[in-house]
Amino acid sequence: MNFSRNKGIPCIIIFLFIGFSLLGQNEGYVATEAGAGDGVIHLLKRYGLNPGTSNLNHFREINQIKGEMVLREGSRYRLPIQVYSYNEKSIRSTIGRNDWDLAVKIRDYNELMHRKNLRKEDYRKDKILWVPVEYLEEPVTENKTNPSSGQTQIKYPVFGKDQEVVEIKSDRLSGHVYYIVSGHGGPDPGAIGKYNGHSLCEDEYAYDIALRLARCLIEQSATVHLIIRDDDDGIRDETILKPDKDEKCMGKEKIPLNQMARLKQRTGAINELYRNHKKNGNPVQRAIILHLDSRSSRQRIDMFFYHSPNSSNGKKLASSLRNKIEEKYNRHQKNRGYTGTVEERNLYVLRNTLPVAVFIEMGNIKNSLDQKRFILKDNRQAIAHWLCEGLLEASDQ
Ligand SMILES: [Zn+2]
Repeated sequence: MNFSRNKGIPCIIIFLFIGFSLLGQNEGYVATEAGAGDGVIHLLKRYGLNPGTSNLNHFREINQIKGEMVLREGSRYRLPIQVYSYNEKSIRSTIGRNDWDLAVKIRDYNELMHRKNLRKEDYRKDKILWVPVEYLEEPVTENKTNPSSGQTQIKYPVFGKDQEVVEIKSDRLSGHVYYIVSGHGGPDPGAIGKYNGHSLCEDEYAYDIALRLARCLIEQSATVHLIIRDDDDGIRDETILKPDKDEKCMGKEKIPLNQMARLKQRTGAINELYRNHKKNGNPVQRAIILHLDSRSSRQRIDMFFYHSPNSSNGKKLASSLRNKIEEKYNRHQKNRGYTGTVEERNLYVLRNTLPVAVFIEMGNIKNSLDQKRFILKDNRQAIAHWLCEGLLEASDQ
C-alpha cells in the first residue's frame, strides 16, 4: 500500500508548509490495486466509501480516467481518501476543522480500516491519517451523528424543517438509484377531488407521498432523485394540502403546460441521470411514478400498477409492489381484501424511461372513501412506507 503524490502540487506544498507548520500536511491520496473483477463501486464499498455520484466523479478525476470507468486488474488507483500527516495533537487540528463529530467519524473510520487490514498501522502509530473526501465535503453543520443511536444523520431541506434530518438506518440500498416522479405539477394540478368544499389537487397529494417515499429510501442509503420538486413544500401533515403552481422539474426547470412537453421534460431528466449512473456502475436503477386516478365519485379503486408493454422487469417490480400492498392490507385490515391489479400500459413515461419503471395509481381522488387514503397524513405515510418495503424486498431479488 503506498500513497501517490499529485505531481502538480509541489509549489502549493511549499506554501502550505511555511504557512501551517502546526497543521498536519495533506499528502495526497490513498492508492490501492484493483483485483480481478473489481469495479470502481467495489473499491469504494471496500473502503467504506459512499458509491454515489460525488465519489465516482472524484475517482474519475484523481485517476484522470476518460470514457468508461473500467479498471485494469493489477493497476493502482487513487481513492477519494486524503492522507494527512497526523500531528499527534488532535484530528481536528490536523485537518484544520474544529468539528468534534467530524473528528470522531474520521477516528472511527481509520480504526475500522485498520481492523479490516486495509491499512497496516493505527494512525496514532504511523502518524498517517486517512480522511475520506466525502467527509470533508459534507457541510460542517449539516451532518451529525445521533449521540444515542450512533447512526449517521443527514440533512435534506427538501423534506421541510420538521423532517429534514434523516437518520440512516441501514445500507441495504447503498448504490441503488431511485427516480421518484410525482404526477403533473406546475401549471397542471392533475385530477381534482372535492372534500368539505375544498379542492384536493392530485399533484399536491402525489408530491407529499413522493417526499415520504424518498425519505424512507434514503434511510436505507439509497440514492434518490426527486424529479418533480417544490422547494417550499416539505412533508406536510395537513388534511387539505394547499394547491400551488411552483413545482419544478429537478427543482429548477419550469414545468410546461403542454402534456407531451411535460412528459418529455421529466423522462429526459431521468434518462440523463440514468446514463450517468449506468456509466458509474450503479447496479440498480428504478423509476416510481405516483398518480391519483379520477373516476366517477361512486367508484372505489384499490392501488394498482402499470408497467411498460413487454417489460418483464417492469412487470416483476410492479407485481412485487402489488403483493407487498396486499400483504400489508391483510395484516392491518384483516377482512378488507385487496383488488389491486398489475397491467401493461402503453404510456409515454413508461415507454420512454430508461430505468425499469412502475406507474402507480393510488386511488380515486373523487371517491370520498378513497380520499381518506390521501387526506390523512398517517395514510400517506403508510402508502410511502409500504412501497418502500416493497422496493427493499424487490432490491434483494
Ligand atoms: Zn395523474
